[in-house]
Amino acid sequence: MKEEEETTNDNDRNNDSLFTPPEGANVQLEIDRQYSNFKLIRKEDELDDENFPKSLHNVAELFVRLQMIDHVSQMHKCVETFKKILENGPDGKQTNGLGQAILCFNCGYVGLPKGGDIGMECSSCREEEQTNKIIVKQPDGTIVPWIESKIAPDGKGKNDAQEALEKKLEEEDDDGRKK
Ligand SMILES: [Zn+2]
Repeated sequence: MKEEEETTNDNDRNNDSLFTPPEGANVQLEIDRQYSNFKLIRKEDELDDENFPKSLHNVAELFVRLQMIDHVSQMHKCVETFKKILENGPDGKQTNGLGQAILCFNCGYVGLPKGGDIGMECSSCREEEQTNKIIVKQPDGTIVPWIESKIAPDGKGKNDAQEALEKKLEEEDDDGRKK
């Protein structure tokens, strides 16, 4: 996907349509309603902040409003990868672990913190302060752990996942059936 960040400063920001990218930004991202299921857990000093985003849906709004296109793209990539794993059912080969995910406001990363599921350090940019834990709460109230793909947003581990995919394709015929 090609993206360009709009750098011109305009004061015409009364466009409250959520997903219209800033003028000049060549980016189309679908932020669906499921993003509201990703709830942010506030830290103590954020408890009284009425403007604090409640879910990743609000975070997407915030990033778009601030024209932080890289951030919203990064978040989108992480969440869509997770959604796909959840949809297909994790097979243990293409996943890297599971646990408590965090959102990083510094870069838009969503995923397990550095070193597993403890701590608040962003695995992508090492930010430690501007991160919040998130929980994935399904509409029926079920809480789902974050499942990490081997394909990290920065492309690390790509080879493992590619290998797994190639192997899978090798084992299946065109209809996806086992040979
Ligand atoms: Zn980060």
